[in-house]
Amino acid sequence: MLTSRVFRPAQQLSSHIRRYATEPPKSGSNNTLLYGLVGAGALGGGYYYLNSGTAGQHGTQHESGAHGQPASKNEEKNIPAKAGPGTGVAASKCFTGGDQGFISLLLESSESVSHNTKKLRFKLNEEDSVSGLPVASALLTKYKGPEMEKPVIRPYTPVSDEDEPGYLDFVVKVYPNGPMSEHLHAMKPGQRLDFKGPIPKYPWTANKHEHVAFIAGGTGITPMYQVARAIFKNPEDKTKVTLVFGNVKEEDILLKKEFEELEQKFPQRFRAFYVLDNPPEGWQQGKGFITKDLLKTTLPGPKDGNIKLFVCGPPGLYKAISGPKKSPGEQGELSGVLAELGYTQDQVYKF
Ligand SMILES: Cc1cc2nc3c(=O)[nH]c(=O)nc-3n(C[C@H](O)[C@H](O)[C@H](O)COP(=O)(O)OP(=O)(O)OC[C@H]3O[C@@H](n4cnc5c(N)ncnc54)[C@H](O)[C@@H]3O)c2cc1C
Repeated sequence: MLTSRVFRPAQQLSSHIRRYATEPPKSGSNNTLLYGLVGAGALGGGYYYLNSGTAGQHGTQHESGAHGQPASKNEEKNIPAKAGPGTGVAASKCFTGGDQGFISLLLESSESVSHNTKKLRFKLNEEDSVSGLPVASALLTKYKGPEMEKPVIRPYTPVSDEDEPGYLDFVVKVYPNGPMSEHLHAMKPGQRLDFKGPIPKYPWTANKHEHVAFIAGGTGITPMYQVARAIFKNPEDKTKVTLVFGNVKEEDILLKKEFEELEQKFPQRFRAFYVLDNPPEGWQQGKGFITKDLLKTTLPGPKDGNIKLFVCGPPGLYKAISGPKKSPGEQGELSGVLAELGYTQDQVYKF
């Protein structure tokens, strides 16, 4: 049986720390004492991004449904039910890759979720279609401002479900002088943005691993959330999940509500540990860096069977935890804390 390392210290502290419990917790978080064990420091840097470059195929717009004369009564009978979940009709996929090129999508809404992060909803061009992105994958965005010589291209991971018809949601953090994130934050509903994809990352299939752990910093959480969603929405998938999530301040913790729901719903299979550089008074969880001690205590061990660790965050986080990626398509050597803890290259995936 797979035993997470989180069980070991937790067993010694069993009256204080809830493990993957048999019952959902009554309230609040459960990691208080465990976090007393972790050290201090600060998460730094920013995570890797694709350089601006020549854009691929331009402006292949995905037009919406057919136009024409109203259907006759007989023809109406043959009109299929609306596509999508529960209709028995497969929804069409918006992003098919290959030579599809960029698709222009309309921004439906934009709302602030923290002082530097917005949630953006883009309408898919057909209301019955779904993004159809395989898990895990990202989309490229492309924008050319009036003063720009070349378009800027950056990847983002939707936080809405791949099977959700009609729209795509993103959470985007703004960086000072960051051309794409500033543009996304400045966009107004009704404006359009070019998207292309999917950009395949780690292909997930149910029960591919017994236990996965996500080590994330800031907006590095979005690909992790995509994989977690795929795992927990599939009743056949029994994978255990541990999340270690570092942020600067409490209000920076993205998708906290969604992860708390998973923790309540799947207490035997999902645990989250939050670490803050700048914790508020009374913060009971991790403070400072995501340290070696914290990871040793919370992650499944290198010899705990079929495990996989995923890393995504700012450059400082990669450097300290796993070593940087060599390039967007190449994982690079495993180094940092995970190598010191005895994990092997093939047990770790850098998003
Ligand atoms: C696979 C993948 C998925 C991603 N998904 C998301 C997502 O869902 N939401 C999201 O907000 N971002 C995501 N990103 C990051 C995103 O692609 C951009 O890198 C980011 O928005 C900055 O782009 P920019 O053009 O505004 O700034 P850039 O010109 O790229 O950078 C501006 C300044 O900010 C620094 N910087 C850039 N990125 C970061 C960072 N991540 N952390 C700290 N400093 C940084 C740079 O060093 C530079 O100094 C993802 C990245 C990858 C590789």
